[in-house]
Amino acid sequence: MKVNQVELVISAVKPEQYPSEGLPEFALAGRSNVGKSSFINKMINRKSLARTSSKPGKTQTLNFYKIEESLYFVDVPGYGYAKVSKKEREAWGKMIETYFTKRKELLAVLLIVDLRHPPTADDVTMYEFLKHYELPCIVVATKADKIPRGKWDKHKKVAKETLDLDPRDEIVVFSSETGLGKDNVWNILMSRSKK
Ligand code: GDP
Repeated sequence: MKVNQVELVISAVKPEQYPSEGLPEFALAGRSNVGKSSFINKMINRKSLARTSSKPGKTQTLNFYKIEESLYFVDVPGYGYAKVSKKEREAWGKMIETYFTKRKELLAVLLIVDLRHPPTADDVTMYEFLKHYELPCIVVATKADKIPRGKWDKHKKVAKETLDLDPRDEIVVFSSETGLGKDNVWNILMSRSKK
């Protein structure tokens, strides 16, 4: 998809604030600093619409980006940042649990992981959480440009095994630097929004 129009409609903390047009939504989850904002920006052809490297753990809102009047990207605050207090962590957990479990518009969650390393314990916990609620996932293994092309398949396999990936879920090798995988992800999103 060629994206021209993008609008941050709302930074929501509670369901009453979620948009109400019923457009399909794709949520984006990932560890702080994994490259989630860069992924969003690459997908929507923007330099810095989604905040890059804002203080990890700081953005405790669900950011609803409306794209081409046809779907939403919902940016979920990053997880796994050590300096977050227990209270903040609980608030985060409650907010995303409410969104992930109750939102009918949510079609799939894009889980962003780092292709260079096996998914972390936090990544595995997040994936298990999503699967527990039977949410379809698309795993985006980013920063591919940082390792040689010859290693992509092996690292992809490790990611699949570490997450114990459901065969229905897809995994895409990605780079926000080069745009690798972008068309592939858009194709997956388009086919899922038509179902
Ligand atoms: P976020 O905290 O998950 O939103 O992470 P950011 O998108 O801010 O990225 C964290 C750092 O990784 C930044 O310095 C980015 O420039 C860098 N980065 C993100 N994606 C890629 C990528 O695909 N390739 C390379 N080489 N660097 C990346």
